[in-house]
Amino acid sequence: MARVSDARGTIESDARAARRKAMVKVEVPVINKTARAFRDAHFPGVDDATWNDWRWQVRNRLSTVEDFRRMLGVNALEAEAIAMQGLRLPVAVTPYYASLLTGLDCSEALRRCVIPAAAELDRSYGECGDPLAEDHDSPVPGIVHRYPDRVLFIATDICSTYCRYCTRSRLVGRKETRALRTRVWDQAIDYVRRTPQVRDVLVSGGDPFLLPDSALEYILSRLRAIPHVEMLRLGTKTPMVLPQRITPALVRMLKRYHPLFVSIHCTHPGELTPEAGQACARLADAGIPLGSQTVLLSGVNDNTETMLALMRGLLKNRVRPYYLYQCDQVEGTAHFRTPLSRGIEIMRGLRGFTSGYAIPHFVVDLPGGGGKTPVLPEYFQGRDGDELIFKNYEGREFRTLDPLPSADTDADRR
Ligand code: SF4
Repeated sequence: MARVSDARGTIESDARAARRKAMVKVEVPVINKTARAFRDAHFPGVDDATWNDWRWQVRNRLSTVEDFRRMLGVNALEAEAIAMQGLRLPVAVTPYYASLLTGLDCSEALRRCVIPAAAELDRSYGECGDPLAEDHDSPVPGIVHRYPDRVLFIATDICSTYCRYCTRSRLVGRKETRALRTRVWDQAIDYVRRTPQVRDVLVSGGDPFLLPDSALEYILSRLRAIPHVEMLRLGTKTPMVLPQRITPALVRMLKRYHPLFVSIHCTHPGELTPEAGQACARLADAGIPLGSQTVLLSGVNDNTETMLALMRGLLKNRVRPYYLYQCDQVEGTAHFRTPLSRGIEIMRGLRGFTSGYAIPHFVVDLPGGGGKTPVLPEYFQGRDGDELIFKNYEGREFRTLDPLPSADTDADRR
């Protein structure tokens, strides 16, 4: 029998080493204390395996006034807004995410993200159903082709939990049939195949992780087989709202389609639970680079302290902060929007005060299809002769040499 020696010089058999490795790999899904208490109070008799079954989580989402009243104690205005669901955007919250809305400091912020407010039914100046004009840039159903070398592939209309500020509220939650979906996918894949400049495909929705593994693999395998497609991306909120979906079987499948990136939509440090951490770890362990996307939301994350905690927390979970978005002008979301100056102030509070890796790009996705446009605090103050003037992260002034080209130098070049 072959024997191996570990770093401490102890000896173990190959078979024992293999058994030990296998044991390490069979991870037990975690359930945090608050979620367990919520489950026991509202879903008595549901065992760990059932609670950790993502399909059970989807089937048992909170969606009626009665569900919310019984489990979360909504007020009269919230109840009225929930009752009007469907007018703009469906209401649904996984039991797991609902468990985060009780008894925590952050619960008010998280509630605001998923429980409708009466203000949602108002339409404010400048708002519309499709503020980014995605429909205008859609050459075939299921594709948005705005930038030169990449496309958005809308794989599904379904999400497990509906964010009240969703930019695609005009599309999501419509319950399309599998046959219709497959027809749309085939057309979209065909568009990518006959458009050679497309080297990057972002598969999003809705939430693509709401599709069964086989359906998601149908899309990924066909896209991966197109020679000019160099990379695939998935845009999802699942690790934050339904971490149970990130199963070992799913990540085994995803691993077959590298280079594959996952952009995770996160809103608040309260979402970074042990369950979310485990979901991120599974994806990261499969070699999938993880990035984050966060919408700046009034009353949720619009202060430096919360944003710093979120960005640092993401890095601890191996997610690289990627984008911080100014909230789009989608109808019914005025109560979420902050002045642009708030975002700039938050960015000023991050840069220099924490690792560069924790700094996202703050962008405005310009209405009418102008695209993502970065916004930065002003550090460059101007020029004084041969010197450039900057203010650093502490607001102190510094100068650096940047000689103006002289007439001699210009002559030499000619
Ligand atoms: S997960 Fe994304 S697509 Fe779904 S409701 Fe939230 S923002 Fe919209």
